[in-house]
Amino acid sequence: MKLKIPENILSLKAYTPGKPIEELEREYGISDSIKLASNENPLGPSPKAIEAMQAALENLHRYPDGSGYYLVNKLAEKLGVAPEQIVLGNGSDDVIGMLTRVYLRPGDEAVMTSPSFLMYEIFVRTVDAVPVMVPLKNMAIDLDAMAKAVSDKTRIIFITNPNNPTGCHITTREFEVFMANLPPEVVVVLDEAYIEFANDPECLNGLSEISDDRPLAVLRTFSKAYGLAGIRIGYGIMPAEMAAMANRVRQPFNTNILAQVGAAAALDDEAFLSKTRELIHTEFEFLKTELIPMGLDCIPTQANFFLIDVKQNAGDVFEKMLRHGVIIRSMMSYGYPEYIRITIGTHAENIRFLNALKTVLK
Ligand SMILES: *Cc1c(COP(=O)(O)O)cnc(C)c1O
Repeated sequence: MKLKIPENILSLKAYTPGKPIEELEREYGISDSIKLASNENPLGPSPKAIEAMQAALENLHRYPDGSGYYLVNKLAEKLGVAPEQIVLGNGSDDVIGMLTRVYLRPGDEAVMTSPSFLMYEIFVRTVDAVPVMVPLKNMAIDLDAMAKAVSDKTRIIFITNPNNPTGCHITTREFEVFMANLPPEVVVVLDEAYIEFANDPECLNGLSEISDDRPLAVLRTFSKAYGLAGIRIGYGIMPAEMAAMANRVRQPFNTNILAQVGAAAALDDEAFLSKTRELIHTEFEFLKTELIPMGLDCIPTQANFFLIDVKQNAGDVFEKMLRHGVIIRSMMSYGYPEYIRITIGTHAENIRFLNALKTVLK
């Protein structure tokens, strides 16, 4: 074919997800494998969400409500903001896409950390804007360096808190100093995909930072703490003026019927959320008490995953763990060649992970 593909599209690499579990099991001749690689909820979806989605199956011949009226209103009430401040997305990824389409023109710059969540770069390049990467400092976000990376071409800054893949967090105080010194026309996108797991009282919570007179958008998702990654639903909270612009570039039926009812029911399932949080915190402590005596360093986390320094090639460890049916992430391609990232699982999964790791590292 003789198609002219723009340079910025040619510069993209398609996101490479892991193979389906069934396929890996076939390849490696294993069964009953466990996946501790994508920061999903080990308890499954919220039971209330399952029930609500089952009841909604009969309506699947209808288009969804394009405004997500009930979910938007429920979120607004829960969060103490106006419904006009909420933008629903087909996953919070979708909201990142809307914000980049609204605020970035070709040649504009978007500041982000390196490493950071891959979707930021993909969306920025898609609109022919330029990602400006600021390295992490001791695995934490270096807000001073990010502020210094702002130029007169900067239109967006992406901040992930708690951060993926390191699990580190920024404090309210640090964030407020950072915001106070930014040029007023730079949009800050604060990605809080893991905020429900944070338990350090100093950890920034973006909701209380939103105000009509500054361009801050906070992103949240049902994919992690609420256990709904498979139905794709997330949202942004921002000044109504910004939400109105995001809604202009939103696909009218971006969130589906099951996602809307499942998310609304999950919001009411406080018991499930508490159970999830408690599991993650208890199991992180358990994993640490097992890993530290093995001579391994665990990086402190405010999320449902953490990094482990395995003091040898993480790619090899990943491969060997796979043969034991335990799927984790190697941090090799993120610039940490001797670190693995594991998502905290159920107690049984964590024991299986520890046993496999002991064998592999021997
Ligand atoms: C998982 C994750 C998300 C959530 O993406 P969804 O599209 O809502 O599933 C967003 N940001 C980061 C950093 C994540 O790790």
